Amino acid sequence: MTEVTVICRFCHATCGMVATLKDGRITKLIGDRDNPMYTGYSCIKGRNYHEFHASPDCILKLLRRNASGDFERVISSEALADIAAKTRSILDLYGPRSVAMCGGTFSHFCPAGVMLREAFMDAIGSPMRFSNATIDQPGKPISMALHGKWGAGPQDFAEADVCLLLGANPLVSMWGGIPSFNPAQRLHEARKRGLKLIVIDPRRSETARKADLHLQCLPGQDVPLLAAMLRVIIEEGLYDQAFVEAETDGFAQLRDTVASFTPERVAAVAGVSAEDIVAAARSFARAQRGNATSGTGPSMAPHGVLMDYLVLALNTICGRWVKAGERMPNQGVFFRQFSGVARADKPRSATDFGEALRVRGLTDTAAGLPTAALADEILTPGEGQVRALFVIGGNPLLSWPNQEKPVAHSSRSNYSSLSIRCSQLPLGMRITSSDHASVSSRRRSPLATKASPSMVCRSVTRSPMRSINRR
Ligand code: SF4
Repeated sequence: MTEVTVICRFCHATCGMVATLKDGRITKLIGDRDNPMYTGYSCIKGRNYHEFHASPDCILKLLRRNASGDFERVISSEALADIAAKTRSILDLYGPRSVAMCGGTFSHFCPAGVMLREAFMDAIGSPMRFSNATIDQPGKPISMALHGKWGAGPQDFAEADVCLLLGANPLVSMWGGIPSFNPAQRLHEARKRGLKLIVIDPRRSETARKADLHLQCLPGQDVPLLAAMLRVIIEEGLYDQAFVEAETDGFAQLRDTVASFTPERVAAVAGVSAEDIVAAARSFARAQRGNATSGTGPSMAPHGVLMDYLVLALNTICGRWVKAGERMPNQGVFFRQFSGVARADKPRSATDFGEALRVRGLTDTAAGLPTAALADEILTPGEGQVRALFVIGGNPLLSWPNQEKPVAHSSRSNYSSLSIRCSQLPLGMRITSSDHASVSSRRRSPLATKASPSMVCRSVTRSPMRSINRR
């Protein structure tokens, strides 16, 4: 038996694991105690990942639907040649728009996956690129486009003394507000140094049980709740006046808009006390550092874009963005989420640009082409009809709205599943450095000098963030 260090790709937490191998098969998976970030953390899914691989239900070979409607094994070279020939002929007959790509959540867990699928679509010249983002959390990119994006990103949890989570349960989902590497330990350490945790969630989630203040509002009442908190912070002058003055516009309009959302009025509809709304607002605004984060669920509720916009507004009026000279957390290796410059990218159009779909007058958006319309793009005859669909790491028959339409499409397909098996557990990959990217910097703050390696935000000339946009 041998042991090798690996990473788990079952979810975005990518925990460091130790795999025990016997006769070329993994017999045991446990968290890697020597991994400095995860310190042995793993969850039950990851520890049983090898069982999924060994399951008789796991599709390890390519399958092709034959003339009688059953599936048959097909070797990779034959399947790929077949797919290439069919794609080529569709492209020749109907043009690039007839080939669409849809990436699901699992397509993001392979670092090269997103780049390769984009490269493929670039190569064939098709604009028909869809993803789960327009189904499960369109509010995030759309609200960011409308609000403006701070180039240095949000303040880091590692230095926060407050954390507000709205509809997020990172202790279980490994996503949102608390770093995903062993989030329970990160939260425990943060609370020991004095972090206050505020959770807004109709459910008493695992994370909510750890909160200093849990606003257990009624479902769908997050927008008035956030508006009331903004009102308290503005009325009591608890916001970052210097940041608002220097980097935003539209503040007066925000103040006027939330003026009628008194804690008492909102308490009556949201199912929480006015005292708790005020306490949450004061606790968040009076802290020195930290930010508010929303989860995936509220983005799928009514008013998801507005909810995410108000979360951004809350962070902005409290100045909860990395300033010039401060340390930036990890900005990514393959995809840089932020420019690294402490200024705002101005608001931009969130809809009505790019490829126009043939159905319902829909267009491209800041979250991508609306995946909910893809089934209609496939089923609607005429010029521009989608005739080939590549799905990576997703399950349209379960995840798309109105599943009967994808079912109608799939019943006409020759291939129901193309599973090119590659190692889900890339042996030998480990994360050994800290979670802070090492990059060159123009100048270092005292804070940044203590943090090594680190990224220091560059000083910039003043630029209006226009965060409180007039839309
Ligand atoms: S949290 Fe669980 S599923 Fe996710 S990467 Fe870690 S072990 Fe794997």
